Amino acid sequence: MAGGKAVGDSLKFDPSDDRAARLYELWGEIRDLQSAEDLLQWDQETQMPDGGVEGRAKVSATLAGLRHQRLTSPQLQDALAAGDELAAETEADGGVLGAQVAAARRQVERAVKVPEALVRQLAEAASNGLSAWRQAREAKDVSLFSDHLVRLVDLRRQEAAAISPGGNAYDAMLDAYEPGMTEAQLVPIFSHLQGALAELVQAVAESGVEVDESPVLGDYPVAAQEALGRELATAVGFDFDNGRLDLSTHPFCMGVHGGDVRMTWRHQQDDFRPAIFGILHETGHGLYEQGLPAAWHRTPLGEAVSLGIHESQSRLWENHVGRSRGFWRWAMPLLHRHLPGIDPAVDAERLWPLLHAVTPSLIRVEADEATYNLHVIVRFELERALFAGDLQVADLEGAWNDLYAASLGLRPADAAQGVLQDIHWSQGMFGYFPTYTLGTLTAAQLFAQANRDLGDQEAALARGELAPLLGWMRDRIHRHGCRFTAAELVQQATGRPLAADDLLAYLRSTVGEVYGLGA
Ligand code: ZN
Repeated sequence: MAGGKAVGDSLKFDPSDDRAARLYELWGEIRDLQSAEDLLQWDQETQMPDGGVEGRAKVSATLAGLRHQRLTSPQLQDALAAGDELAAETEADGGVLGAQVAAARRQVERAVKVPEALVRQLAEAASNGLSAWRQAREAKDVSLFSDHLVRLVDLRRQEAAAISPGGNAYDAMLDAYEPGMTEAQLVPIFSHLQGALAELVQAVAESGVEVDESPVLGDYPVAAQEALGRELATAVGFDFDNGRLDLSTHPFCMGVHGGDVRMTWRHQQDDFRPAIFGILHETGHGLYEQGLPAAWHRTPLGEAVSLGIHESQSRLWENHVGRSRGFWRWAMPLLHRHLPGIDPAVDAERLWPLLHAVTPSLIRVEADEATYNLHVIVRFELERALFAGDLQVADLEGAWNDLYAASLGLRPADAAQGVLQDIHWSQGMFGYFPTYTLGTLTAAQLFAQANRDLGDQEAALARGELAPLLGWMRDRIHRHGCRFTAAELVQQATGRPLAADDLLAYLRSTVGEVYGLGA
């Protein structure tokens, strides 16, 4: 299954066969509409003037409605039926056509259950919600956003009820981001992780060790941070001829299509770490998008398998590579060249503890590796409660603050530091947060396996050998598109199902060394 030849290259569907050609033609148009929606969303988050909000909400709703019409059209149903017939006759392609039809069907079956009017309402509410959230966040006032959130929760409930009548609403939403995953599967994994992380954070607090962060603090010009970020992204393999990097409030990466992968970043004047690790993170996403099989672009299989797998790629480059001693042994000259304000005596050995310091904080995207997943679990608990009917939007801010006090020992001073910090709910994205933790677990498991397969990556990175690891990811993850489920990919790549032990071993080792914790 993981042979040398790229599976994607074997997809040479015969264009003279009308039955398969029709399916790819129809699917290509559906994907094009998605690309247009993506690009408009990228624009809304990076360029659009405030006055564009209302108009953009309409455009987004129209495109989402059109795409829904195409996904649910009788023509596509006919093409899928024909594709099934052809796949049954075709052995030579190794089952690719059958897998294409199955991947398309998964999306079609979800779409046909949701009325087009609801799809349009959701797109419009998400676009308006984003703009209200921005204002509320700026004003640190939840009340400016509450009505939008009530509306988004209500619309998502309707959608979940349409997809899975009488079923678990949270599962229906989770399935959009992590196909096949359920709340019941997540609960034991997350509760085990939460317990182990709480112990680790407690041990750090009791160690009495303080990490002196002054060596990385300074005054770093934005242009210099960007230049360093671009050089590192290029070095690990991101292709700027097929991608971009722009500023946004909330960093993200978007594969508009294979040749156009857009990453965004943000920066802090006095600390280069948020920008650099943010860019490495988005670069991991970007490498995945650029590594999807070119022959499958605009086909059902040409997509990332799930957000959890996507996040495994970003976490891998951000944390397992970007926070390693080996990487900085190689990258240290670049750091000093771009940011000459840093003490020349700072080398990889002195930088390394500053990349693994544990400091419970209020902001998820700035959290250290040990507390990060505690932030995610807070959101998971709140989302589940909202959709189970155990929590009302009006009580959300209070519940958020209480959970932060219990889990991280901190209480937000205002809503911008608390419940309004993340963009996701403003766009109606519920069930998305757990994929961050799934990705973090997957990254640790993949990196451990890559070390077994390729030899010591710490030593390879120190020599500037970044390509073998990327090649391994291309082979094990990227080239398969969404042909396999996330669980199947993890099993194939690492020989076992997803578990928390590689992440916990990694954190206990790094954090244990920094804080002198006993084994
Ligand atoms: Zn990410």
